Amino acid sequence: MNPPKAIGFDLFNTLLTVHPAAMEEAHRRQLQVLHEEGLPVDAEAFGKAYLTSAMMFLEEARKEGRETHNRFWVAEALEELGYSLSPEDPRIAKAVKAYFSACYPYCKLIPGTRELLGELGKRYPLGMLTNFTDGPAVREIIDLLGLNPFFEKVLVSGELGYRKPHPYAFERFVDALGVPAGRILFVGDDLEADVKGARDAGLQPVLTTCVQDGNLPAARTPLPPRTAEIPEDVPRIACWQELLDLLETGSFRTSTGQGHRLWRNSAR
Ligand SMILES: [Mg+2]
Repeated sequence: MNPPKAIGFDLFNTLLTVHPAAMEEAHRRQLQVLHEEGLPVDAEAFGKAYLTSAMMFLEEARKEGRETHNRFWVAEALEELGYSLSPEDPRIAKAVKAYFSACYPYCKLIPGTRELLGELGKRYPLGMLTNFTDGPAVREIIDLLGLNPFFEKVLVSGELGYRKPHPYAFERFVDALGVPAGRILFVGDDLEADVKGARDAGLQPVLTTCVQDGNLPAARTPLPPRTAEIPEDVPRIACWQELLDLLETGSFRTSTGQGHRLWRNSAR
């Protein structure tokens, strides 16, 4: 490739982590709202039905590339327990909102992220493309962590209708940045959504394993991660300094220790 002209980032487990304790609190608050709204479901039965329905909708979303939303998961779980509500019912909206709001205090930036974005922002336009079911909730998180000033464009699957790795999500991202796909470096933690998705759309992926390598506690989605090999020509970074080094040199070491050049900076 030629030297990158813009840098894209995934959000969850790339720039920030959500502490696993958030999940328990989120479920507790969601249930509390359902109870307050006159739906006295049993905690354990609802928890089980909700997990089953969330997994079903997420599996479907993963297969089709279309984004899902938590309101469908709650409606399906309630249906299972004998309460027939439309996913558009305001009581469900309130419960889902409570679920997300419980997560906000548990979102933490990966150490050094603000400094990294400040540094890169001087040299490149930055964009974010994140998979998340709920646009307003993820925009609240981005705002609370003070990330907005760093990003020219923030795209959310829940607003696009499609989730990474679907090509539509990346096409919209490339259009929004206004930079040719081949000049965009895309940094993410998910081999399928970020690495394969970016690569199939013509962007240069960079896999980040900062969360694992930094042993940072992080909540995961209910679905098991898909395992895949890291392609030899995809750089893997274990900390932000390695991303800066990659941008500085245009080259990296593969897992077998071979030097691999992605671009020559003199051509910039
Ligand atoms: Mg991620």
